[in-house]
Amino acid sequence: MRYSDIHRRRNTLTPQSQAIPGRAMIPNAAGGYTFQVDPWMQLRRFLVTGTLAGTYYTSAQKLTLDNVEVVRELLDRDPERVVNEVVAVSTAGRAPSNDPALYVLALAAAHPAARRRAADALPQVARIGTHLFHFAEFAEAFRGWGRLLREAVAGWYVNQSAGDLAYQAAKYRQRDGWSHRDLLRLAHPAAPTAEHAGIYDWICGRGTPSLEVLRDADALAGELTERQVVKIVERGHVSWEMIPSEKRTASVWKALVPRLPVTATVRNLGALTANGVLKPLGQATAQVVARLRDADAIRKARVHPLAVLLASGTYATSHGQRGSLSWQPIPEVLAALDEAFYAAFGNVVPMGKRVLLAIDVSGSMSYTSLPGTNLSCRAVAAALALVTARVEPRWHAIGYDTEKWDLPIAPGMRLAEAVELFNRFPGRGTDCAVPVEWALEHRVEVDVFVNLTDNETWAGLHGHPAEVLRRYREKTGIASRMVVVGLTATQCSIADPDDPLMLDVAGFDAATPEVISEFGRL
Ligand code: CA
Repeated sequence: MRYSDIHRRRNTLTPQSQAIPGRAMIPNAAGGYTFQVDPWMQLRRFLVTGTLAGTYYTSAQKLTLDNVEVVRELLDRDPERVVNEVVAVSTAGRAPSNDPALYVLALAAAHPAARRRAADALPQVARIGTHLFHFAEFAEAFRGWGRLLREAVAGWYVNQSAGDLAYQAAKYRQRDGWSHRDLLRLAHPAAPTAEHAGIYDWICGRGTPSLEVLRDADALAGELTERQVVKIVERGHVSWEMIPSEKRTASVWKALVPRLPVTATVRNLGALTANGVLKPLGQATAQVVARLRDADAIRKARVHPLAVLLASGTYATSHGQRGSLSWQPIPEVLAALDEAFYAAFGNVVPMGKRVLLAIDVSGSMSYTSLPGTNLSCRAVAAALALVTARVEPRWHAIGYDTEKWDLPIAPGMRLAEAVELFNRFPGRGTDCAVPVEWALEHRVEVDVFVNLTDNETWAGLHGHPAEVLRRYREKTGIASRMVVVGLTATQCSIADPDDPLMLDVAGFDAATPEVISEFGRL
């Protein structure tokens, strides 16, 4: 860049530490100015990303309270739409955790105008016992227990078949200080069948259950030989969670493997390898690999890609997050996990445009993106970028903080390696305009910029990203678009809401790659 350029740029471009003159902008947590996302987008970011990990700049508590405020405003404005959003994100399995959806639903249940709709939606959002317990905990915090909500909880018990309810009762017994017994006392559901009545009795510790799953679950609590446990597993009524951990020996796991659902398979790969059930060229290994490679089953089970990414990271490191288990990862299993990761996004249609994937690798992006995991926002961004790189015929990826970094990622690369690569960046300041400036300077022709960031831009002296993008369009004559993938649940965005060629999308949503592609194809 020449000095004359700097001078000329100064006339038209605003430092990121200031708002663009005449535009409504808000300060972000890093001291720069950004646009404010549409509150509906903020709701979606919250539903998808949650706030329990906080961000580099903002505590989890503050971030959650900010989001609660936005949700309450939206509930005043359009209660129906808030609940519909919750149901849509939750039922499609778009978020890695269902907790934010349950949390917003509990907020809605405590809101006079949304109460009925929230109660109606409860069975759709609280699909398993654990969800119901989480919801109860949130509803209690918002003092939401009215007649409507008690009826909704009662409905959860009444409207399931006895077989399904028994399975739920035996599998998810308590969480967050709530148990089925507590909820039965609260909601007093009527028993639509004698079998339901028997399950209620079982939950309350009365009588002998008639359903096999409950009898087997009871038997598993007692003294049994390994052979007897295997026999129970082979009867096929119980799930692996119903077996006390000390009874889950290698033989028991071997019997479980053919019956494990995809999510349970993904979660237990380390344990299965540590105890020798999975070994190179073994039969159980073949079963597990086939399951992970079954794209239809992955989609049907709504396995979240982030769950697979986490499992792949843990499995590749040869030891569990907690505890003392260690194992030698089997490459065939790792490769199948990668396949499962891509399959979990469903079919992404390529845009067929020139796509620049730009990943913010500044310091703040090294912050954990999900509570209880070691996955940083950078790693999550890298994985998302790989999905687009895999489907697009023309793409290039770069990293940036206050300058551009080469980024040697490529589809076909092990996910765990790609994630590892991102731990190496030094993590400096942030200028989200760098990708466009770099393209301009090097005459790189880009139709779609995909910017994966936490939107905490502040260090750029020579223009806000939206301004630099307009300049790029003028200079190149290309009507370039920019998709901003917001990786934290803040209200900030570098996307100009008045620029129809800029789009905000919410973080690690299982639908993100397809949403990016749809916008790029327009
Ligand atoms: Ca940053």
